[in-house]
Amino acid sequence: MNKQMKPESLMMSHAYDAHEHQGAVKCPIYQTSTFAFNNCEEGKAFFELAYGLREKEEGEEMGMIYSRLNHPNMDILEKRLALWDEAEAGAFFSSGMAAISTTILSFVKPGDVLLFSSPVYGGTDHFIHHVLPQFNIGVVGFVKGEKEDIIIERVEKAYPGKKPSMVYVETPGNPTNSIIDIDMVSRVARYFSTEERKCVLAVDNTFLGPVFQHPLQFGADLVVYSATKFIGGHSDVIAGAITGAAEFVGQVKVMRTFFGSQLDPNSSWLLQRSLETIKVRMEAQAKSAKVIAEYLKDHPMVDKIHYLGMLDEESDMKKVFDKQCLSAGSMIAFDIVGGEKEAFIFLNNLKLFKLAVSLGSTESLAEHPATMTHVDVSPEDRVKLGISPSLVRLSIGLEDPQDLIEQIRNAFEVVTKANSSAIC
Ligand SMILES: *Cc1c(COP(=O)(O)O)cnc(C)c1O
Repeated sequence: MNKQMKPESLMMSHAYDAHEHQGAVKCPIYQTSTFAFNNCEEGKAFFELAYGLREKEEGEEMGMIYSRLNHPNMDILEKRLALWDEAEAGAFFSSGMAAISTTILSFVKPGDVLLFSSPVYGGTDHFIHHVLPQFNIGVVGFVKGEKEDIIIERVEKAYPGKKPSMVYVETPGNPTNSIIDIDMVSRVARYFSTEERKCVLAVDNTFLGPVFQHPLQFGADLVVYSATKFIGGHSDVIAGAITGAAEFVGQVKVMRTFFGSQLDPNSSWLLQRSLETIKVRMEAQAKSAKVIAEYLKDHPMVDKIHYLGMLDEESDMKKVFDKQCLSAGSMIAFDIVGGEKEAFIFLNNLKLFKLAVSLGSTESLAEHPATMTHVDVSPEDRVKLGISPSLVRLSIGLEDPQDLIEQIRNAFEVVTKANSSAIC
C-alpha cells in the first residue's frame, strides 16, 4: 500500500485482501478460538515470536495461533490504528483499563516508582493509588503547569536514589480539559532513563486521539486509549488500545497473553467499522462543540467554561495547546451559576443529551463529575482540580448543534424558574 496515503484512505482496506477471503469486501468475523498450523515447524516458529523468544526475521509475519494471543480481526485493527499515530505497532485490549493496567505492569515492577500526571481518569486514579501500592510500587504525582525541575525534585525527595521506570500522563485531562506539555514530560522521562533501563513515557490520548493529537511526535513511547470512546464512537463496545514502537508494544503484548486482556473477534470487528468513520465523526463533533461553546460562553447561567477552543491567549496552556493539539475536540465542561442543586436541575432537564458517563459517541452525553465519574477523588483534590459541585461535563455528538442548544436553553430556563420560585 502507498505509504503516502492518508489514514482515512486506508481504513477500509489496510492489512486485508478481499480475494483471500472469498471476495468478501468486509473482513468476516473469525469466531474461532484456535488456528490450524500447516505443520509443526510453523507452529514452533509462531510460538517463538509470541513468547518473545527471538526477533522477527526480515519480512516474517506472525501467524495466527490461539485467539488469546492473536486473531485476524484484532490483528487488522491493530495495524489500522497504528496508521493514525504513525506508529510501528498497535495492540488492542478488552477495555481501556485493561490497556492501562497491562501496559503499566509491563514496565513497572515491585520496588519501582511510577510518576504520573493528575487528574487522570477515575479508574486509572484508583489503579495508581490503591492497586499499585499493593505490589510495593511507589507513586508520585504532578499537575499541569509544574516545571520539570520541580517534578524531578519531588521524585528525588520522595524516593531518594530511585529512578521511575515509567511516566504516565493523561492529556487533555478529564473532566476540565487540563493540558500537560508532552515534550516537557519526555525530557523528565529522558532524565530518569539509564543505559540499562529506559524510563518509558505513556500518554493517555483518549480525549483528542487518534485524529487530533499524536503524542509519539512529542517524545512519548506509548500512546494509550480507551477505545470505548472516540475510536468505538457508538457507545456499543468496551475496548482499549495502545500504539508505539514495536519493541514496547511487543513487550506489552507478551504481558497481555498472560493477563488474558485481549479484545474478542466480535468487538474487534465493530471497531474496524468504527475506524472507517473516525475522522469525519471527530471533525463533525468538534465543529458542533465550537458552536455550543460559543453559546455557553455568554450565557448568564454559565460561571466558567472549560473548553480548549477558549484558552486565554497569553496563558502557558494555550502555548502548549498550539504546539501539540490539532483541534479543541468535542468535550466541554462548565460551572453553572449556583451549585449541585442547579447542576442537577439542568442535567435532569436535558432530553436529547443522555444523562450518562462515557464520551466520544455519536449521541451527546452529559454528566456531573463531582458525584459521578470523579466521586472517588478526595474532596481536597476535587477542589484543587476544579471539580466543583457546579461543574457539568458535556460530550458533543452528531446531532444538529442548534437542536442541542435548544435543549440547553430549555434546561437553563427550568433552573432559572426553580431559583425564582424558591426566592418567592
Ligand atoms: C474511559 C476512560 C478510560 C477507561 O476506559 P474503559 O474503556 O472504560 O476501561 C481511561 N482513560 C480515559 C481518559 C477515559 O476517558
